[in-house]
Amino acid sequence: MAEILHWMDNKPFAGTSGEVGPVTNPATGEVTGQVAFASVQDARTVIDAAAAAFPMWRDTSLAKRTAILFAFRELLNARKDELAAIITAEHGKVLSDAAGEISRGLEVVEFACGIPHLVKGGFTENASTNVDVHSVLQPVGPAAIISPFNFPAMVPMWFFPVAIAAGNTVVIKPSEKDPSAAVWLAELWAEAGLPAGVFNVLHGDKTAVDELLTNPAIKSVSFVGSTPIAQYVYATGTAAGKRVQALGGAKNHAVILPDADLDLAADSMVNAGFGSAGERCMAVSVCVAVGEIADELVAKIAERTRTLKTGNGVDNPDMGPLVTKAHRDRVASYVEAGEKAGATVVIDGRDVTPVGEDTTDGFWLGPTLFDNVTTDMTIYTDEIFGPVLSVVRTDTYDEALELINSNAYGNGTAIFTNDGGAARRFANEVEVGMVGINVPIPVPMAYYSFGGWKNSLFGDSHAHGMEGVHFFTRTKAITTRWLDPSHGGLNLGFPQND
Ligand code: NAD
Repeated sequence: MAEILHWMDNKPFAGTSGEVGPVTNPATGEVTGQVAFASVQDARTVIDAAAAAFPMWRDTSLAKRTAILFAFRELLNARKDELAAIITAEHGKVLSDAAGEISRGLEVVEFACGIPHLVKGGFTENASTNVDVHSVLQPVGPAAIISPFNFPAMVPMWFFPVAIAAGNTVVIKPSEKDPSAAVWLAELWAEAGLPAGVFNVLHGDKTAVDELLTNPAIKSVSFVGSTPIAQYVYATGTAAGKRVQALGGAKNHAVILPDADLDLAADSMVNAGFGSAGERCMAVSVCVAVGEIADELVAKIAERTRTLKTGNGVDNPDMGPLVTKAHRDRVASYVEAGEKAGATVVIDGRDVTPVGEDTTDGFWLGPTLFDNVTTDMTIYTDEIFGPVLSVVRTDTYDEALELINSNAYGNGTAIFTNDGGAARRFANEVEVGMVGINVPIPVPMAYYSFGGWKNSLFGDSHAHGMEGVHFFTRTKAITTRWLDPSHGGLNLGFPQND
């Protein structure tokens, strides 16, 4: 059984709490490891290490910082298969999907390799007579990064490449369900030459998170997880005077207009609804069929869904298990509730037979398709975070738009149509942070920023891109006059330009 320890000063740190939690392989149901759970004192020890390293790292030249980032990028690219295997073993997603999340994380590392250009300030000569003004972007200080179970590598990589490149030190608090990816990344940073104390990993639960949110040495908090916890993290962290970006849950709708290519739309609904067993914050969980196409569309989605294979992620089937037994049972209870509420069960994932060996005790639920879902049903109102796709039928585009804009979440959405005018109107009118046009999972590239609106994000900074650079730096404006004989002498008025 693996012992998964905290990571501090470029080496494992056992902590003193004596508390541990189980880590499970969701495909086999086997407990494969025990992860340390931090006490308040353990959290303080790790935070102190990050704080102690900050002055040294802040003053390390951009040339040296980028050399280490490039080395990290090369190592990660060469060894990404190892990381993918770790993700599959603890999360359950299929290997190709684990490789995909690493690629998206690598893009942010590559973006951060350009940090010298990204933190250039401005310079204005002669703003006033013989007075110059320039600005610099300085790191904020030790950063806390608290991540969810569903992307154990990519979500931390939305933040730490930019944070570290900009001169901050970091403490990552990964999900206790799949904590090994963060430790593997920590080892890789050490190999890339990152000095001790810059990248630290703190395992645990609310105790660890609460210390990160309130400890005065932590200057910024980047959180990704469910909406109630995101709201709590935002309220607690900002009350303690920190800058906080807290990304929450989602209920993503895709609108299919009558003129859409229905084969493309059906492929997209299956890919975005059931990929990673629906445990993606950008998964499509509601398909809004507009007008007469609904019967044909549902038939096409069903036909494709029936071909999907669910099994152990190491064999690369279409879909893996759910992350824990408790989560599997919770998702299954939604399927039951949907059926009881009167939605049409087109495909019932509770009947799934997983492919592959050694799957008897895994946490299985196959792809589930509901039709005729109405907005009062819990399968519509709640974020299920599993392989459950609900089709809602509307008569018009306006009804479809109203559904999305009245939803509490605003993470991602998509429209399928061949009408450029309709697509343009949707992009303009929809109140959602990330929009796809004939693209079901519109995750922005690293040089744009990732983030939703409404209850999908608390704070005003999205992840990575220039918003990430802004979040992990603070601007200082410096006004300079070198003495010359013509200075104006005493003047108690507010400075004015001349
Ligand atoms: P979660 O909210 O349960 O946990 C997220 C993190 O918060 C974990 O590190 C966890 O240990 C910690 N945590 C849990 N309970 C806590 C508490 N009471 N106090 C303090 N910290 C606590 O989320 P999850 O189940 O790991 O992840 C799934 C959720 O994340 C979904 O809602 C999904 O939509 C969301 N998500 C959102 C995005 C996005 O970009 N908006 C991306 C990925 C996942």
